[in-house]
Amino acid sequence: MSVGKCDHEKEVRLIFDGAAEYLVERGYAHHIGVGEGLSVLERAERDGLVHTSNNSADRASVVCNCFPCCCTVLRGMTELKHPHAFAPSRFEARVDSVDCRRCAICADELCPVGAISMDSGAAVVNPDNCIGCGLCVTGCPEETTSLAKRAGAETVPANIQELGVKVLQEKGKFEDYMKLMQRS
Ligand code: SF4
Ligand code: SF4
Repeated sequence: MSVGKCDHEKEVRLIFDGAAEYLVERGYAHHIGVGEGLSVLERAERDGLVHTSNNSADRASVVCNCFPCCCTVLRGMTELKHPHAFAPSRFEARVDSVDCRRCAICADELCPVGAISMDSGAAVVNPDNCIGCGLCVTGCPEETTSLAKRAGAETVPANIQELGVKVLQEKGKFEDYMKLMQRS
């Protein structure tokens, strides 16, 4: 399915600060208040969309709510079986198997990447497939699911500039980038 051709609500991308002003001035976005922003997040969560933000510890500049059916990144990670290929989450879901009522809602309706199975009766999360989206946590009627920090999870860059440097360094492009900046 092409991006945006599904039945999900489309006005679910939140942009902040300078980038928001840039888009509003050009007619691609409009201002909303905090209450409406929170309502967008609640609706997105109910609709099974995955909150994603910039992978740095500073203030978010964007919160996208990705469609599991047609978001290029989310669907690509799932279908190509590389769930941690892109900005891997530092969290994974855990199920309290004692309190789990085995309703299978998390496996059948909530998890967008098929990371939960009911093979042993109770819900079991496969951490290799879990992307830490939290939809099974907010949607479990028994509140038996939680997110926990992954063992060995990388520290998130302090801000978006550090993130950019890290990406360039990992790709071996940092020196080239610095040369380019010095010329301009
Ligand atoms: S939704 Fe909650 S109670 Fe139902 S199977 Fe999943 S973890 Fe268990
Ligand atoms: S957090 Fe829950 S819903 Fe999200 S990918 Fe992991 S197991 Fe699936």
